[in-house]
Parts: sequence; C-alpha cells; structure tokens
Amino acid sequence: MGMTPPPDLKLIDEQGRRIDGRAPNEIRNIRMRAGVLKRADGSCYLEWGGNKVVAAVYGPREVHPRHDQDATKAIVRCRYNMSPFSVDDRKRPGPDRRSQEISKIMSEALAPVVLTQLFPRTAIDVFTEVLQAEAGTRCAALTAASVALADAGIPMKGLVAACAAGKVANTVVLDLNKEEDNYGDADVPVAIVPKTGDVVLLQMDGDLTDAEFYQAMEYAVQACKQIHELQKQALLDRYKDAAEERASERPAPGGDDAEPGEEEPVIGEPGDGLDEEPVSPAGDEEVFG
Ligand code: ADP
Repeated sequence: MGMTPPPDLKLIDEQGRRIDGRAPNEIRNIRMRAGVLKRADGSCYLEWGGNKVVAAVYGPREVHPRHDQDATKAIVRCRYNMSPFSVDDRKRPGPDRRSQEISKIMSEALAPVVLTQLFPRTAIDVFTEVLQAEAGTRCAALTAASVALADAGIPMKGLVAACAAGKVANTVVLDLNKEEDNYGDADVPVAIVPKTGDVVLLQMDGDLTDAEFYQAMEYAVQACKQIHELQKQALLDRYKDAAEERASERPAPGGDDAEPGEEEPVIGEPGDGLDEEPVSPAGDEEVFG
C-alpha cells in the first residue's frame, strides 16, 4: 500500500478498466471445494485469482493447554500461515507479526459466529495455509475457513464471507490484486455473515473519504453475497458427490442384484456401512479435475 508505482504502470486505463481487465466493482475468479482433506474433520481448498489457500478444521476437541479451556463455551483458535514458496521472494517460515495478526482477526471473526456455548471446555481449531499469495489472502483464508467449519458439521449462525475493497488511482475498487495492493491508496478487508448481516471483520489501511468508504463497503458487501452463493454451492456439491459415491458402492436394496431372501443390512450390525471409512468426495482425483 502506498508505494510509488513505476511511471509506465496505469492502474486504471482510459476506459476505466484495471490492469487485469476488471471493472472497478468486479471480483477475481473464485473456485472452492469442500472436503478435500481426509484426516481433518472439515476442509476447504480455495483459489481466488492468484491466491491458493487450504483450510482444515479439527474439533470440537479437548483443549491443550488445559488452562485455556472455558467452562461456558468452546474456544475458536485460528492459525494463518504462509508457505515459504507462496510469494516471489522466499518467505521465512514460521510465525511473524503479520501472520499473528491475521490469526487473531480470523479467530475474532469466527468466534461470534460459531455456536460455541454448545461445546463447553472444548477447542475448535482452524488451520489455514496459504500456498500461493497475490493480495487478499486474509479474506480468502476466512472464506475457506468458514466452509471448512461447515464441512466439519460445526453449528454456526451462518457462513462468513470476506472480500476487500479499496482505492487505486483515485477510484474505489473491489478485491485488490497484487499491484493494486502495492501501489494503491487504501485497502479495506471486510467479512460479513450474509445470513444475519453482521460485520465480523473490518480493517482499513490507507485513507478514504466518507463517501469513498461507503462506496467501498457497498462493493465489499455485494461481493460477500456473491461469495456466499459459491460457498453454499461448494457445500452442496460436497454432499452430492459423497451421496453419489456411496450409492455407486452399494447395490440397491432389493434391486436386481439381490438374491431371493437376501435381507437388507440392519443398522448396528456388521455391513450396515456405518463403521466404514467416511467417503471423501475428492478422492485421489485432481482437486478441480
Ligand atoms: P492480504 O493478503 O490479506 O491482502 P496484506 O495486505 O498484508 O494481506 O498482504 C498483501 C500481499 O502481500 C499478500 O497477499 C502477499 O501477496 C504479499 N505478502 C505478504 N507478506 C509477504 C512476505 N512476507 N513476502 C512477500 N510478499 C508478501
């Protein structure tokens, strides 16, 4: 933010288009898939422009260290981490001030949304790993984290969707890319719960007038509503895929394959399917194969 752009770089051209061809109020392409990790209780992989993020959720589970536990509710702990190869120059591995800040704001955004009072004395752990970064990673991580929480079956008031808006070359724009983030004048990451309208994250880097701020908020809230639709679709697809896979594994009860007199499996007996490995819809195929 605030770096002087190279003289030949036009962040907004004569037609009002941005360097990647987007209109000011357009988001980058977003794709997401729920249930991609076998060993997590819930997970999500998300691609957002040049960002690639994976989120994994564990819990509710026992709290370590024990003195962190709360007798009245679950604690929600988020970890945001950037891999060394996620940025142009190798990033020094391990936590730094920025990743601690983002972990904190993510925990604070998700804790009021999760129905924590249902799980006293437990922890819900949310890990987000940024594999590739190109501005907007906190919003990408938060968006993926809330899908992973839903995939883990954690009850929530609603999904959390996030998107940044800001200002470049005197124009309010939505979802800043890397150059806009570097050379822009303001960056405002926003996260809302579209179902309730609650704002759970609002940060601002740089300066905006009142009018510009309201315009940026309006863009960000509209984008969060679009992103919310993609989140719901990713969760629907996850359960559709799982159901189809299960159906194809099992002969239809009483169908053509059934021997005369063969009984349907009884729940609680061997072969009822309840003790089988959970189905991973992603399987070994490519994530967006
Ligand atoms: P966000 O990713 O949420 O926009 P920032 O505004 O702090 O968060 O970072 C903007 C972008 O700067 C990141 O998405 C990433 O592309 C880049 N970046 C952040 N940290 C580093 C780093 N240590 N080295 C190189 N690039 C970085």
